[in-house]
Amino acid sequence: MDETKTELLSIVVPAYNEEEVLQEFHQRLTAVLSGIQMNPEIIYVNDGSNDKTFEVMSKLRDMDSRVAILDLSRNFGKEIALSAGLQKANGDAVVIIDADLQHPPELIQEFIKEWKNGYDVVYGKRIDRSDETVLKKVTSYIFYRFIQQMAKVKIPENSGDFRLLSRRAVNAINSLQESHRFMKGLFAWIGYPQKAIVYKVEPRKAGKTKWSYWGLWNLAIEGITSFSTIPLRISTVIGIITALGSFLYGLYLIMITLIYGNPVPGYPSLIVLILFLGGVQLVSIGVMGEYLGRVFNETKQRPLYFVNNYLPSRQEGDELK
Ligand code: UDP
Ligand code: MG
Repeated sequence: MDETKTELLSIVVPAYNEEEVLQEFHQRLTAVLSGIQMNPEIIYVNDGSNDKTFEVMSKLRDMDSRVAILDLSRNFGKEIALSAGLQKANGDAVVIIDADLQHPPELIQEFIKEWKNGYDVVYGKRIDRSDETVLKKVTSYIFYRFIQQMAKVKIPENSGDFRLLSRRAVNAINSLQESHRFMKGLFAWIGYPQKAIVYKVEPRKAGKTKWSYWGLWNLAIEGITSFSTIPLRISTVIGIITALGSFLYGLYLIMITLIYGNPVPGYPSLIVLILFLGGVQLVSIGVMGEYLGRVFNETKQRPLYFVNNYLPSRQEGDELK
């Protein structure tokens, strides 16, 4: 450990089946770190990979005394893997970065500069998503429009998890107890001075993305339900409007019957109304169910994750001796 560098920088890297890129990632990261006036520690979080990711990590740890490995007991998903890594990080500043080299490590230097300027959260903002499909771009656009209307915190668009957090920001995140963790939202929710730095997202170096459209849909629902109860209110409003509408329609029917008698027409309107109300009710119950399910999950108060093995960096190990 270099005694002239006093501040500690933690790098948290969640990895799930990243055997192909990890080595190259480590090389690029360490090249950047050597130009930084801080003591680094690199925490690789193995999120229950079923390929050789852990072996590659161990090899890196053998070669580099700054590497720590947090091996989770199974795959918990990126949001939880990140939370786990943040809890282990000791740094005065903590950088979160993907293992697949989509986040250029070179940006870390700029993150640190802004951190020194007093920002608690410095996040990367993608300017180019050219490698993504049109469908993904469109759905992402709609999602951000939607959530910005509904959520009270402003969740910045086109920002991934690539970011630097100050110690107090990390403490704030670590103090959050919820098990449904939409990290992008939580990072915004904690407040503190935040700063965006734009960068060009690179295509994945190797391996493939873990996100399916179903996964993204679930993430979107997670984001909305974690930060807004407006969908519940929308059901109420729709309920009131339809109730009012049917009351007026009822009045109209009574009038018609009084004036013209009752020749039993109106089968189509009956069916349309039944189907419409049935649909509205099912959607409302579904919305309620989404929230209820989350309440159910939160009340269980399960630990977020379990650790199979924690291998501290060898420099941290030296300190403990
Ligand atoms: N990741 C993880 N656990 C998971 C899925 C992904 O730790 O269950 C990691 C993955 O190894 C990578 C990062 O999260 O370092 C981003 O994943 P990915 O590249 O699949 O997402 P995308 O870049 O397509 O949003
Ligand atoms: Mg990626």
